Amino acid sequence: MTGLLIRDAELEGERRADVRIGDGTITEIAPALDRRPGEPVLDAGGGALLPGLCDHHLHLYAIAARARSVLCGPPRVRTAEGLRAALAAAVADEHGWIRGIGYHESVAGPLDAGILDRLHPARPVRIQHRSGALWMVNGAGATALGLAAGDHPGIERDEHGVPTGRLWRADDWLRAHLPAAWPPDLTATGTRLARLGITAVTDATPDLDPAAVAALTGDALPQRVLLLGAPLGHPAAGPYKIVLADSDLPEYDALTAKIRAAHGENRAVAVHCVTREALALLLAALDETGTRAGDRIEHAALVPAELLSRIAELGLRIVTQPGFLADRGDDYLRDIPAAEHPDLYRLRSLVAAGIRCTASSDAPYGPLDPWAVMHAAAHRETPAGRTVGAAERIDVGRALAGYLSDPTDPGGPPRRVALGTIADLVLLRAPLATAVRKPSAELVRATFIGGVPR
Ligand SMILES: [Zn+2]
Repeated sequence: MTGLLIRDAELEGERRADVRIGDGTITEIAPALDRRPGEPVLDAGGGALLPGLCDHHLHLYAIAARARSVLCGPPRVRTAEGLRAALAAAVADEHGWIRGIGYHESVAGPLDAGILDRLHPARPVRIQHRSGALWMVNGAGATALGLAAGDHPGIERDEHGVPTGRLWRADDWLRAHLPAAWPPDLTATGTRLARLGITAVTDATPDLDPAAVAALTGDALPQRVLLLGAPLGHPAAGPYKIVLADSDLPEYDALTAKIRAAHGENRAVAVHCVTREALALLLAALDETGTRAGDRIEHAALVPAELLSRIAELGLRIVTQPGFLADRGDDYLRDIPAAEHPDLYRLRSLVAAGIRCTASSDAPYGPLDPWAVMHAAAHRETPAGRTVGAAERIDVGRALAGYLSDPTDPGGPPRRVALGTIADLVLLRAPLATAVRKPSAELVRATFIGGVPR
């Protein structure tokens, strides 16, 4: 592999240096390096050279699928008529299916097959709720899936046992019953991530089947990928994702058994925890099972102040998403009791309590752009310009540090551009001070993974 000489890069936000890359690692850093014969040179012009960013919580296949989907919720669609028009205009996939995303009840109330048939009876339609927890299909979709004969517990049925068209947390069943367009191609997603400066991702999709595990850990993406959804018994490392469904919490004993099973395989747990009830249940369970280094709470959307010290004592880390505030903060302010607003997507109080924490995207459910997420962590502004929990603001540099932490140590110390390290790098068009003052994906000039420009 040819090397590369990066001239006049800003390191650590202070000194300027030349950096040589060879065989995928950083081989030299010095105030001035001589170019070798034939060696390509990139003049950084004082732009910051940072370790590549890691998004510690996202969903790769859902990101790829979203690019081929019709948005069925705000801000694009706000009324039943708007939804009817969006579905009518939607382009079906090669199997004739319309795939909708981002639905919220404010559009046309709770959707089921009957309501969807009044909006779009002709072609099979499936629409995902904005939360990611629920799919809704119309009659043609239910028929195509063989929903009536389905045996998944998430298939909602009426009092006569007839499926309503609503499928709760049944993505694995749905995948198995949809025409084969699986796994989706991730080439465009990898390019998109690289343009944002992302060189590593943690996929947080639960219950991946072996084919998905193989595809995601293969070379589907140039980025390094850590999976939380590899099933127990699978040799893949990485914490084990457990979902505490917001609407239907598991039994305490079932939860402790799952945690023990993961810990028994030397895997930490990564527990989806959105509500205060889910958090209380998880902490009680972990009190009993004990914790492992690396155990993490995903989202921690609502953390009552009185639980902060317990989370810290248990040594749990938190991977959260302030980007949701910029995306749907006004909905939170409307739907969540005012007394709980200070508990929403905390960051500063987590840091103050000594809890390892980092921002991440949860894309495609939250905004993917890490620079926008950093901005959201620092400003906590809703789309309407209101502020959610001003006391929980952290500065952009602190949010960036989370994106620089190692995939296996989210919220741990930021990685550094140092001699002998893997050349996963992002070069900015400006010094770090500029990026911290005004974080923007437009500042990303080049991204390298293992020394290769992407
Ligand atoms: Zn997620």
